[in-house]
Amino acid sequence: MLYTMKQLLEIANKENFAIPAPNIQNELTARAVIEAAEKMNSPLIIDIAFPIHPDIVFLGEMTRRLAEESPMPIAINLDHGGSRWADFDLCLKEVMPCIRAGFTSIMVDRSSLPYKENVSHVQMMTKIAHAMGISVEAELGHVGDGEKYDDKSDMVLTDPGEARSFIEETGVDCLAVSIGTAHGQYKGKPYLDFDRLEKIKTATDNFPLVLHGGSGTGEENLRKASRMGINKVNVGTDLFKASLNAVRTADLDGGKIYDIWQVINDSWRDELIRWIELLGCAGKAPEYLAADTVQKRRIHYMV
Ligand SMILES: [Zn+2]
Repeated sequence: MLYTMKQLLEIANKENFAIPAPNIQNELTARAVIEAAEKMNSPLIIDIAFPIHPDIVFLGEMTRRLAEESPMPIAINLDHGGSRWADFDLCLKEVMPCIRAGFTSIMVDRSSLPYKENVSHVQMMTKIAHAMGISVEAELGHVGDGEKYDDKSDMVLTDPGEARSFIEETGVDCLAVSIGTAHGQYKGKPYLDFDRLEKIKTATDNFPLVLHGGSGTGEENLRKASRMGINKVNVGTDLFKASLNAVRTADLDGGKIYDIWQVINDSWRDELIRWIELLGCAGKAPEYLAADTVQKRRIHYMV
C-alpha cells in the first residue's frame, strides 16, 4: 500500500523508532524487501538511486505496482536525487522522471553545495514535489564516503542551528544529518556523535531525521540512534554482503544452480528482517493502517 514518506515518518517520530530504507537494484531485490516487511508486519521505505538501473521510470513503475499490491505501508523514495549535478536544471531533470514513475518521495541532495544554494534549490524542488503530493528529503552537512573515513576529508557534520533554519526556509519533510556515519564500507571504526544528534533533534523541535550510511555502523549505534530521534536509516552494503556470503556458502552444484536467485532473495530478505528488528519497527504496520482512511492513502499524481 502506497504512502508518502512524510506519512510513514510521522508515526516513527512520535513513537521513537526508525524505518529501514533498503537500496533496491531490480525486481528481485524489490520483492525481497517487501517480503521482509510483510513477514515482520512493518512499514518500509524503498530507496532507489538514479544510476542503479538503465531505466529508472521502468524500475519505479514496477516497484510502485509491487508496493500497491502489498498490504504493508510502503513509500518509494529517490535516493540522492541530483547529487551528481551542481546545476539546478540538471537536478530537476533527474527528479522529474521519478515523480512521473510514481515515487512517493524524493531526496534532493544539494549537500555538496554551499548552504545558500542548498536552501534555494531544495526550496524550489519542495514546492514542485508538494504540489504533486509527494514528500521531500534533503541533506545538511555532508555524509562522506567510508573509503575516506580514516581522514574524514569529505565529511561535514551537521550544525544544529543551521538545521533549524534550513528546515524553516526549505519546507522539507525530513532531514538527513551527518553525525559520523559514512556511505559504503568503513575504513576505520565508525564513531557517532550522539550529543550532536540530541542537539539537532532539540533545535529542530523533534523534526523527522534520516541517517545515511547505516551499513557497518554497528548494532549498538543503530539501536541507540533509532531511539534518539533518527526515523529512517538507509542500508545498502550490508544487504549486498549478506547475499554475497549466502551465494559463496550455498550448495549450488549441478541442478541446484537454478536456486541462485532464491538464495539471493532469501539472504537479502533475512538481512533486512534483522534491520527491521534492530530499528524497532517490527509489528508497527497495523498502526498505519488503522490511522489512515482509504481516501487519505490514495496518492494522486498530476503528471
Ligand atoms: Zn546516502
